[in-house]
This record gives sequence, structure tokens and C-alpha cells, in this order.
Amino acid sequence: MSSVDKAILGTFPLVAVGPTEGYPPAVESGIRYLAAAEGLWREINLPWIRILHPLGPSTLPLPYGHLKYEVDVKCGPVPVELIREFNAVARACAPQENAAAIVWNAVEDYWRLAQRPVISASADHIEFREATLLPGEHIVIDVHSHGHHPAFFSRDDDRDDAGTMRFSLVVGSFNKEQPTSAMRLCMAGLVLPARVRDGELQIVTKEDA
Ligand SMILES: [Zn+2]
Repeated sequence: MSSVDKAILGTFPLVAVGPTEGYPPAVESGIRYLAAAEGLWREINLPWIRILHPLGPSTLPLPYGHLKYEVDVKCGPVPVELIREFNAVARACAPQENAAAIVWNAVEDYWRLAQRPVISASADHIEFREATLLPGEHIVIDVHSHGHHPAFFSRDDDRDDAGTMRFSLVVGSFNKEQPTSAMRLCMAGLVLPARVRDGELQIVTKEDA
């Protein structure tokens, strides 16, 4: 096997789902593809989240086991005071944009707000350096503000979020008393509407809408 094939197949293994015993649980962080009865699925396992979702149906039934869609947010609820803390900073910076990361430490189980050092910012854009993470820390929520503009995902935001694996939160309307917000979960190309309810990080399903 070529070194390229070895690297790709080692990084993205394909697992067949047994019809009676399923498949071995993920022990390491990474991406696996799963051949199931209905077609091809993808599992992303990170210290703070595990997601199992269908990629595409098979045109014929396959002789494998069934899977069901799963999202397991392993980091627990986010302390809502960190979001309030960011909103306070964003309001103070408005109309300029601001950006930060809400970080969870998988080893010590703490959360913190990590401000991103700003290179340049205006009312319509922000350029920043990534927050420095300590050992065990993971960016769970990428948060930025739109200053006085309402919260929505712009084309720049789509470009920034492409390929990332984190929640993306945008807040705005800081010229008003009640800020606006928009949130989504980005998982290496998969984008799902999301929300925070009493700190719980939730995927918004069609039933919720
Ligand atoms: Zn934005």
C-alpha cells in the first residue's frame, strides 16, 4: 500500500457495522466512516462531542447493522456567565466587532472565556489571532460579535467556519437593549442549527423549530 493510501486509510478508517453486535466504540479522537444497512455514515469523536450521522443512502439494502443519528455533547453545560461576559465585552467594543473562544478543559473539567487578540477590527470585519490553549483545552464555542448589526452568519462567517469542528455563535444588535444571536454546530462540513438553553448545548431539530 502506498504511503498516501496508508495515511488516508489510517486517518479515516472504514468500519462495517455488524448486524448483531454493531461496531467497536471509538476510543480515540477522530473521524470514522461506517458502512451500515442504510448506507454510509460518519462518526466524529472529539473529547467534547461525539456525532454519528448519515452521509448518503445506499441504492440497495446492505448486509450490515442499522445505525441511528446520535449527538452526544460530552462537555456538559456551558456556564452561561461566560456568554454574558462576552456580551458585555462585545457591547463595550460596539460598533466594532469582537471575537473570543469559549474553551473547555477535558482533563480538569473547567470552562473559560479566551479573548482572541485583535489584529484589526471595524463595524464590518474583524481579524484576530487564535486564542492560545493550555494542555487539555478545546474550543467548544467560537463566538464573535457584529457590533450594532444583527446576528446572522455572513459569507465571511461561512468561510471562517468551513471545515471547523465547533459550535459557532454570533451575537449582535448591541445598539439595542436586547442583543440578537445565531448559533450553529459545524462538524467538518456538516452544519446544524444549534442553541444554548440554560447552558445546555443543543442541536435544533425540525420538531423544535
Ligand atoms: Zn460574523
